[in-house]
Amino acid sequence: MVLQKIQLRNKCKKLPLGAVWQVRRCLRWIDPSHLTGIQYIELIDTLPDVTPSSPAWYRHARATNRGTYAWYNEPTTNDCAGIVLNMSDLCYAVPSFLWWTTVPSLLITKVLAHEVAHHLRFTRGHIFLREERFKRDWQEEAAADGYAFDVIRRMRKRWSYWLGHEIIDIAAQVDYSLGVKSWKQKDYVKAASYWDKAMRLNSEHTYAAHWHGRAVAMLRSNRSEAGGRVKSVGVREVLDAPRASEDNS
Ligand SMILES: [Zn+2]
Repeated sequence: MVLQKIQLRNKCKKLPLGAVWQVRRCLRWIDPSHLTGIQYIELIDTLPDVTPSSPAWYRHARATNRGTYAWYNEPTTNDCAGIVLNMSDLCYAVPSFLWWTTVPSLLITKVLAHEVAHHLRFTRGHIFLREERFKRDWQEEAAADGYAFDVIRRMRKRWSYWLGHEIIDIAAQVDYSLGVKSWKQKDYVKAASYWDKAMRLNSEHTYAAHWHGRAVAMLRSNRSEAGGRVKSVGVREVLDAPRASEDNS
């Protein structure tokens, strides 16, 4: 009943095949009572420009070129509460042949559940326990991650999601290895791109995060040696690509 009330607003120029089906599938894993008050889920593939009214976290995310997978919109006088999902970042690392599997379901649910936790915090004042207090933003972020982790843990009890989780790990490892191969060939654009994908699939892949940083530093250094000019389109794509593995909400 709650699910029918949530509007899916498609603002994507090119919506990945099955995206709406995937999002509805993800919503079914979240306690319906926790979704009360969320009126819409907006699917975007282009991040909005920074404006004077943009929140500080968003301005920081864009200024530092951090990846932004999703955020929670608190209700305003003009609109109800909702969640925005950046589908281009969410789907970037998923090969198209896996799009109808549980792989994207797990990746989307992870960020969607995290935003639902922020909604709980806003509406009822807590995520897990009434007495919980967050003095710092990171404490709320950690609790929201914990909420998402619980949802994913429930999903993985079903074999198809367990398998999806295994495939994500394997795909991340394949991308990591391809990154290593590209690095050895001194193709830093490709290396950064593969390690970026590995991080998006597995946000706990610390090796990919480390080496991605090294590859981007190498590209930036090459760019500055070239007098500030970007040597190729490929380099620009990597340098401009969002690449953090967490949302910034
Ligand atoms: Zn958050």
